[in-house]
Amino acid sequence: MKIFGLSLTSWIFVSLFLGIAAGLIFGDVIVPYADPLATIFLRLLRMTIIPLIITSILSGVLSIGSGKGLGRLGLKTLTYYLVTSLMAILTGQILVNVFKPGMNATIVLQTNAPEVAAAESISDLLFNIIPTNIFDSLADGNVLPIIFFCILFGYFVLRLKEPYLTSLTTLIEGAFRVMMKMVRFVIWFAPIGIFAINAKIVGTTGLEAFKSLGFYFVIVLAGLLWHALVSLPLLLRFVARVNPLRHYKGMIPAILTAFSTSSSMAALPLTIESVTTRSRVSHKIASFTLPIGATVNMDGTALYECVATIFIAQLYGIELTILQQTIVVLMALLASIGAAGIPMAGLVMLTIILNTVGLPLEGVGIVMAVDRLLDMFRTTVNVIGDSCGAVIIARSEGETLEGMGEPAANEE
Ligand code: ASP
Repeated sequence: MKIFGLSLTSWIFVSLFLGIAAGLIFGDVIVPYADPLATIFLRLLRMTIIPLIITSILSGVLSIGSGKGLGRLGLKTLTYYLVTSLMAILTGQILVNVFKPGMNATIVLQTNAPEVAAAESISDLLFNIIPTNIFDSLADGNVLPIIFFCILFGYFVLRLKEPYLTSLTTLIEGAFRVMMKMVRFVIWFAPIGIFAINAKIVGTTGLEAFKSLGFYFVIVLAGLLWHALVSLPLLLRFVARVNPLRHYKGMIPAILTAFSTSSSMAALPLTIESVTTRSRVSHKIASFTLPIGATVNMDGTALYECVATIFIAQLYGIELTILQQTIVVLMALLASIGAAGIPMAGLVMLTIILNTVGLPLEGVGIVMAVDRLLDMFRTTVNVIGDSCGAVIIARSEGETLEGMGEPAANEE
């Protein structure tokens, strides 16, 4: 869909530059005008957060359970997803802490002093994951207990008999689709929101925040490249014992689709096609692992969530303790599981992490400027991660994958 002949992406770029220009030209005179628009956009985003988490986690659990149960294959798949997502997050965490892209541009906090989710100890943190009253957690927007409850709820939905199983699954799927439509609707307000947020930031603090943005972009990109070109190929080489180049060569159609659509879901048909016909993974493994992977395994998104959160903390001059960084890692993992495989889903999840860690939500307005472009790269890494998972699991199930990387018989 186009607005006045321009796509949403183009509008986002235009509104960013217009916002920066307005901030520079008008200074803090613009703030009273920009503030309400920014508030409306941020409130719209916030409005979707809790229902989105509930429905996406539930539908994720249900999609894992519906494929032949959580048996050996399920366990292997989940282990692979968790390990590689964590590897990606740690890569990002190391890079952002070593290079500190946001350190030299401390923005004066516009909001009240942040209440960082400072649970006194790890054990408190763990106890707090179990809600004593789920409605309290919902009202307070406490994300971890909500996720805990949803995973358990989803698990027991799967244990229902008919007709309850089908009716609840349909209801949850339906609710998830509605939430995704709402999110897409809110994203159409992004140009106005981005204009207002950036005009407000530049109007009050000048260009400082944006100098760091380029550095942040490079750090995320470096982390993504490292994960896709070093970490995952090493796993292919030493765990699956296949030639990574051959696998990557076969994946080119899926990779290009992921890059140009910024959607793991949109790329899924091509991912399945490439993994089965070119990397020679069986249909059984591919059709079990890849659809789940497209929803829950997002290495690129996980890395990005971690870097973006710590970068925003650095921008606002907030020092995160080891415990808070651990919460960020955990949240990045959960956010990547919860994010839907559609464009800019990771950005919505970022607001959840900022909420949970107690960082200013306005930070989203800053990283949003380069988000659309980063989304293309992180989605590509998400899809590469899924495809490597299918290969590694197929090998562990004894498949030989002979002829990997060669064109399928019908293409010759
Ligand atoms: N666009 C990503 C994907 O589809 C999700 C994200 O926004 O990080 O995989």
